Amino acid sequence: MQIEKTHIIHWLELCATTYQDNQDFLTDLDRDIGDADHGLNMNRGFKKVAEKLPQIVEQNIGSILKNTGMTLLSSVGGASGPLYGTLFIRTAAAVGTREQLTFEELIDALKSGVDGVVSRGKAELGDKTMCDVWLPVLTSIKASLDKGTSADHLHNEMVELAEANVLATIEMQAKKGRASYLGERSIGHQDPGATSSLLMIKALKQAIAG
Ligand code: ADP
Ligand code: MG
Ligand code: MG
Repeated sequence: MQIEKTHIIHWLELCATTYQDNQDFLTDLDRDIGDADHGLNMNRGFKKVAEKLPQIVEQNIGSILKNTGMTLLSSVGGASGPLYGTLFIRTAAAVGTREQLTFEELIDALKSGVDGVVSRGKAELGDKTMCDVWLPVLTSIKASLDKGTSADHLHNEMVELAEANVLATIEMQAKKGRASYLGERSIGHQDPGATSSLLMIKALKQAIAG
């Protein structure tokens, strides 16, 4: 199955809906180990993204994703704005001017986006950040694709892996971002940014596989 531009647009629209629906949930998670604004930040950012979509639907996938990243960069603020902005801008660069992608090409492009997040935020695996969802999910999906598993079988697996990896952040001690100021007291709480990444991955699955 090819991923068309319409799937990508639908993904971004679903992100806007899910961040609106989960604004309080994400903000409550951030209240426990941060400054209680993560839901507000994500909802504000993707609301802007959705508002701008009608003006850019004629553009190619790379350009739509780049616009998304620029919008997040300029409207989200905090730690997550520049990091999610980087994710989309670097993913866009890997996609280039294409109008459609295979699932594998999308996974590779997202990996390049997440590598950008890592080089910007310096988070390592286990630091209790959004990277604790993206890195294991993309690595594992890539490995399954390399073994020859068909993409159609991996859409659900992508969400299941993201769910398991979000739960794994509960026991981690934060080493990056605001939550790291709490030291050991950050243990026992689910990371807000890892949770918003799960929601983004769920929206992606819904957009490409229903
Ligand atoms: P802020 O902490 O500035 O208020 P948000 O609340 O919007 O920003 O986002 C917090 C989330 O950002 C954290 O839960 C974490 O997942 C993520 N985060 C923070 N610092 C980093 C980093 N250096 N690398 C990756 N993700 C990070
Ligand atoms: Mg915050
Ligand atoms: Mg903040």
